[in-house]
Amino acid sequence: MQRIYLDHAASTIVEKPAIEAMLAFLSDNFANPSALHTEGRKAKAAIETARKQTAYSLNCNSSEIYFCASATEANNTVIKSAVHSLGVQTIISSRLEHPCVENSILWVKKTFPNIQIAYVDSNESGQIDLSHLEKLLAADDSKKLVSIIHGHNELGFINPIAQIGELCKRYKAYFHTDAVQTALRFDLGLDTGRIHFAVASGHKLGAVKGAAILFVSRNIGLKSFIHGGGQERGFRAGTENVAAIVSLGKACELAILEKESRKEKLIQLKTIFLSELKAKNPQLQFNGSDALDTLPHIVSLRLPTRLALGSLLFKLDLAGLSVSAGAACSAGAVLASAVTRFLDMETGWQTIRISFSPHNQTEEIRAAVAIIANLLTF
Ligand code: PLP
Repeated sequence: MQRIYLDHAASTIVEKPAIEAMLAFLSDNFANPSALHTEGRKAKAAIETARKQTAYSLNCNSSEIYFCASATEANNTVIKSAVHSLGVQTIISSRLEHPCVENSILWVKKTFPNIQIAYVDSNESGQIDLSHLEKLLAADDSKKLVSIIHGHNELGFINPIAQIGELCKRYKAYFHTDAVQTALRFDLGLDTGRIHFAVASGHKLGAVKGAAILFVSRNIGLKSFIHGGGQERGFRAGTENVAAIVSLGKACELAILEKESRKEKLIQLKTIFLSELKAKNPQLQFNGSDALDTLPHIVSLRLPTRLALGSLLFKLDLAGLSVSAGAACSAGAVLASAVTRFLDMETGWQTIRISFSPHNQTEEIRAAVAIIANLLTF
């Protein structure tokens, strides 16, 4: 049976050039990049090349890029370090953040009872309410960090980060955005001075797992809470994952070269998926919005079924279709995420997330529609 993988928002295909670029650092040159010998210096130089490729692709300066092991680590670093090294007294966030942001903020609240946490309202698609954000920013003179996701990993909506950044600038607040699902697909505007911290993850953009990007804008003075050697200019101690970082640099270079063609292909695939599925059931519901101004690679589909979520995913898997339940980062748990659980409680329906890659073929999309339609009594 041919398998159809439509879970690219969880982890996507590693691009061949990204694999080829990293191989030398798994076999011939396995040296520690902190070592002073020739092999060590070559490994170090490869990291710096990857930093340049990453910075160029994200339109920022190399000195603003730090490599971490995962986006989870990078998001934790920003939120916790903003409190302990920048004197942030209030964190403003949304109720629809990835658990690594949500739980970092909850940890801060528990550990530092004097830190204020405020949540900005969202509209029915999930986007934040800018006028409510302005009210929260204007509420007092405390030093603030605003942490708002850019493109939502489950619902696919996109937050207006340019306007959020403008408001933060006006009220002198720091702005952090989790751009894991948008980096290199959309322009983040890192050159505008509106964003202080942004995060992206290698395994979502064509590199191997084990390397992620933390952008910290110049002269911020953020200090890490990881202490050890002086790696990453003293900001992120621990021997660098050279091979993964090299693959990340190459994947960034490719992603920016192919940005428009990939977007076009994704919109084409999403359009076919939505129109063919709606033709089978015009009442079909989507979480967030099914409009094409959402992330081109994500559809959050609400299915009219009384099957438990685990059984539904299992049946889809048996039929050859790999998709996930909302966020895929819950260590294999078949529980719906808090976001989709909340939405589904109202109808008793189940939510699955379908996510595409530009490498998917139209025939795969049509076959996926047939599998979903067969499983449900439309
Ligand atoms: N933020 C978002 C929006 C995500 O989609 C994910 C993973 O799905 C993460 C953070 C965590 O990324 P990582 O797997 O690199 O820790």
